[in-house]
Amino acid sequence: MSDKSKYNSVITQLIQVSPTMKIIRVKPDQWELPPFKAGQFVVLGLMGDEPRIPDADPEHKPADPDKLIRRAYSIASSSKDDYVEFYISLVKSGQLTPRLFNLNVGDRLFMSQKPTGMFTLDSVPEDQNLILFATGTGIAPYMSMLRSDALHRQGKIAVVHGANNSWDLGYMSELRLLERFFPGKLVYYPTVTQPDKEPAGWEGDTRFFEDIWKDPAFKDKIGFDPKPDNTHIFLCGNPNMIVSMKEILKADGFKEHTKREPGQIHAEEF
Ligand SMILES: Cc1cc2nc3c(=O)[nH]c(=O)nc-3n(C[C@H](O)[C@H](O)[C@H](O)COP(=O)(O)OP(=O)(O)OC[C@H]3O[C@@H](n4cnc5c(N)ncnc54)[C@H](O)[C@@H]3O)c2cc1C
Repeated sequence: MSDKSKYNSVITQLIQVSPTMKIIRVKPDQWELPPFKAGQFVVLGLMGDEPRIPDADPEHKPADPDKLIRRAYSIASSSKDDYVEFYISLVKSGQLTPRLFNLNVGDRLFMSQKPTGMFTLDSVPEDQNLILFATGTGIAPYMSMLRSDALHRQGKIAVVHGANNSWDLGYMSELRLLERFFPGKLVYYPTVTQPDKEPAGWEGDTRFFEDIWKDPAFKDKIGFDPKPDNTHIFLCGNPNMIVSMKEILKADGFKEHTKREPGQIHAEEF
């Protein structure tokens, strides 16, 4: 019998966004998650002997049935919510996600008790504009920022969300609604990179971030001209996107932000 005594939280809601994407809400059981900064992450875990979804692929590395499988997940909710929300993509050959996707409301799991991470707005001055680039579930930390106090900052915000298919653009309706509530402050810019697969067509952009960034029409669309002295850029999700966007941004004078040397490029690889 595996040891499930480390399970300290309960699933309270599951929203199937697409066949491979889920929004999962979790509540700590008899403890409180300390206040966290929007953009931070926690670790979720399940024992290796938990069942995987029936249509999972064989595991690329079989999980140890007696050990807790632990993975980092960005928090998508705000510190004010009484649940912790995650936006999770299924990796069919993975260890944790096929087990997470098999859980139902009421099931228990492990959640680390101390949110961590530097992918926050802490180092961004109030008056700076923000461009938040996300692929897939990389939108999660931005949802936490927008649901916290990012929209009350002075600068403007553009959220550029890319996915292969429109049905993988989670949070689209909330982002469209926020855009309507905050005209001139927030622009939502979705892009779908496999438009030929759209059953009902796709009217929006179909380009990769690199081409969108280089297009002069982008600054008209977002309502400001992003320069290193007025804008901070956040990149979250696919590691290849992050590498190539960093290169392009650096050529345009932006500098990577580190603890030691402040800059305008902030990145979180999933
Ligand atoms: C700071 C941080 C925050 C994160 N936040 C999120 C989040 O909010 N939502 C989320 O879905 N994930 C997030 N991740 C990724 C997450 O931690 C896991 O890596 C992911 O869920 C896969 O776990 P797994 O155990 O199912 O797969 P693993 O057993 O770890 O196997 C992953 C393997 O599958 C391959 N792979 C193929 N497609 C993917 C893919 N889309 N993602 C990861 N690996 C892939 C990789 O090459 C890797 O070798 C985050 C990662 C970090 C470091």
